[in-house]
Amino acid sequence: MALDLLTIRAVILDMDGVLWRGEQVLPGVAEFFAFLGRRHIPFLLATNNSTRTVASYVEHLQAAGVPAQPQHVITSAVATADYIRQHYPTETPVYIIGQEGIRRAMAEHGFREAPAEARLVVVGMDFHVTYAKLKTATLRIRAGADFIGTNGDRTFPIPEGLAPGNGSILAALEAATDVQPLIIGKPQKPMFEMALARLNTAPQHTLMVGDRLETDILGAQRVGIRTALVLTGITTPEHARQAHTQADGVFASLAALHADWQAALDAVGTFHA
Ligand SMILES: [Mg+2]
Repeated sequence: MALDLLTIRAVILDMDGVLWRGEQVLPGVAEFFAFLGRRHIPFLLATNNSTRTVASYVEHLQAAGVPAQPQHVITSAVATADYIRQHYPTETPVYIIGQEGIRRAMAEHGFREAPAEARLVVVGMDFHVTYAKLKTATLRIRAGADFIGTNGDRTFPIPEGLAPGNGSILAALEAATDVQPLIIGKPQKPMFEMALARLNTAPQHTLMVGDRLETDILGAQRVGIRTALVLTGITTPEHARQAHTQADGVFASLAALHADWQAALDAVGTFHA
């Protein structure tokens, strides 16, 4: 573990398990963003959730004390639509399984849905997925349409346990088509590359703060971004110690990261005084 916080010029943060847990905002969140503001350190919020729109995240973030604007939020839906905009002409007919987040992001880039002739099948989490939707996607992929998934999370936590996530929908389509989707969200590279481009910082001067080793930390490491694991979400201290993926720094919470960062700055200040 060798994380030099004094070299960090920009921060990417996961939200659930970092800023809040369910409905509860974690302690010290507003103070951390006030600190970033004072230090002129730009930030982005990055989530694999493709169901919600950027606007709904901005509202939620502001209520939590985070001074976020739409340009600060990258969902896997936004990253997916951005990737598609860069790689496909706008006239490409698409078929979408997913909710408002991915539908809005695709529509904002001018893509139209045409299930019967789709050349591209885009799949995000859909709480109303049906056999008919899976059938349409399967037929189009078998007819040669490209297959893109917003994110590969097989499950996500709910109060009763683990519920099926978008990765489970992708697995059903993979079984039906023998085609593997291109996945955009964490831990794949495209979402992190979009974040770096938007922040305009070098990966070694950028810090990813997340609560999940297999997505937030592993994905950031794939593109050379520095990593801070916080233990306020999915990862237990035991798992953090034993896991194959190791973050550059492990912190009890965002507040603890803030305290360490301030202490490092104070130490340098004292040294130069
Ligand atoms: Mg999380």
